[in-house]
Amino acid sequence: MPEIDGKPATFIRDDVEDVMFRDEEVRWHGGGAEGRGYVYPGRQMVAGNYPHPHAEVCEDYSGTGEWVANGRVLVCRGCGLDCT
Ligand SMILES: [Zn+2]
Repeated sequence: MPEIDGKPATFIRDDVEDVMFRDEEVRWHGGGAEGRGYVYPGRQMVAGNYPHPHAEVCEDYSGTGEWVANGRVLVCRGCGLDCT
């Protein structure tokens, strides 16, 4: 199993070639009052213009995502985290 920063990456996407993922570790989702949500190791943020600069400080708890890549990747509207 591949590893990310020494931890097994339980979520690796190799099925979408036309989406640019940011090569940054995401340890949790959410930096606001509602707390940190669990993120499977290996999940990444899609590169793009999102209101929050990183999933770990994202304050979008709405749970409503946005499909990109022709409906193959569901990302958080606040930070672009892959929530598929
Ligand atoms: Zn988010």
